[in-house]
Amino acid sequence: MVSQMSSNLGDDFCLVCGSPPPLFGERMCEACLRKRIHLAEVPENVPWVRCARCGIVEIQGKWVHLDETDIWDELVQRHLKFHRDAEDVQLAMETRTVSDRHTLIYLQLEGVIEDLLFKEEHTMRARMANGVCLTCTRRAGNYFEATVQLRSSGRKLSEDEYVKLRATLDDVLESLSDDPMFFITSEGQVTGGYDVVLGSKGLARSWGRHLVKEYGGQTVETNSTVGRKDGVDVTRLTMLYRKPGYDLGDVIRWRDNFWRPSTWTKDGAIVERIDRQERTGASWRDLESANVVSRMSEHLVVDLITQDSSVGEFLDPQSWVMASVRLPWDHKGEKRIRLSRIEGEWMALQHLALDENTEEEIV
Ligand SMILES: [Zn+2]
Ligand SMILES: [Zn+2]
Repeated sequence: MVSQMSSNLGDDFCLVCGSPPPLFGERMCEACLRKRIHLAEVPENVPWVRCARCGIVEIQGKWVHLDETDIWDELVQRHLKFHRDAEDVQLAMETRTVSDRHTLIYLQLEGVIEDLLFKEEHTMRARMANGVCLTCTRRAGNYFEATVQLRSSGRKLSEDEYVKLRATLDDVLESLSDDPMFFITSEGQVTGGYDVVLGSKGLARSWGRHLVKEYGGQTVETNSTVGRKDGVDVTRLTMLYRKPGYDLGDVIRWRDNFWRPSTWTKDGAIVERIDRQERTGASWRDLESANVVSRMSEHLVVDLITQDSSVGEFLDPQSWVMASVRLPWDHKGEKRIRLSRIEGEWMALQHLALDENTEEEIV
């Protein structure tokens, strides 16, 4: 025993219990090391806040949309601390709902420290508290920064058309990032149009740009100062959007001829004449005198039964008798043509690229 002790003199031994090697870390045997260090530290209770009104979640001072799985992931990421020397860590998670507010998160962890494999199980209790997010606070206070006025020029828009214009706001909201101010305070029909009151000027402007791009027309902005807050003027934006009475592809009467607008431009439209090859750019001002004579949705696409070089015959779907029409200037012998009824006469329309995107009833 004595000789063995002396032969071991100078060799390493566990600083805690005196066991012989192998030693790990700060000169401890495996058993002592495992008693003293843990793969991870996990708090027992972790709080989180959800907006009691709309359900969005506060993450480090920011309100965000998260589904449950993402909430648990986020809480684990934020609160679980792996040992600083841990390598090859792996994590498996399961949750159990205890009550409306309490969820248990079970964690199975694996990792390597000092070449030793550690496996640990932890339980974390996520405790939800109710809050009210910025958006809901502002909404509740009827906060608004901008009013968008949807109007028309040239002709009265139908209710369906307003519904369609209004629906584009939802598309815009969806395409924009989560901003707590991107909300609708109120909306409704007013004489001659439809008004939408919004929490953000930026949202109003984004929508305005979208409307102009899709439906042509113009926006006019008016800013008004409504007071001062913290030494800064508080202003509100009123944005008037006027949709032209026509859409791309419609037939309009303009300067004593019939034309079809084919593209919106920055300050007007490109219009293409029906009876001959001619296209021109026209400003909104130029087009103020334009009237719609046949909307795209009223056009007919028919198959010709006979045709010669200038005239085609087709079955008039209104009277079920053969009718003839002068072929469009760009006609190249196709069987199918697009017609519009203008002042009691059938008129064949030239082909526009946008005709291919529409689905008319084919007679
Ligand atoms: Zn030991
Ligand atoms: Zn909320």
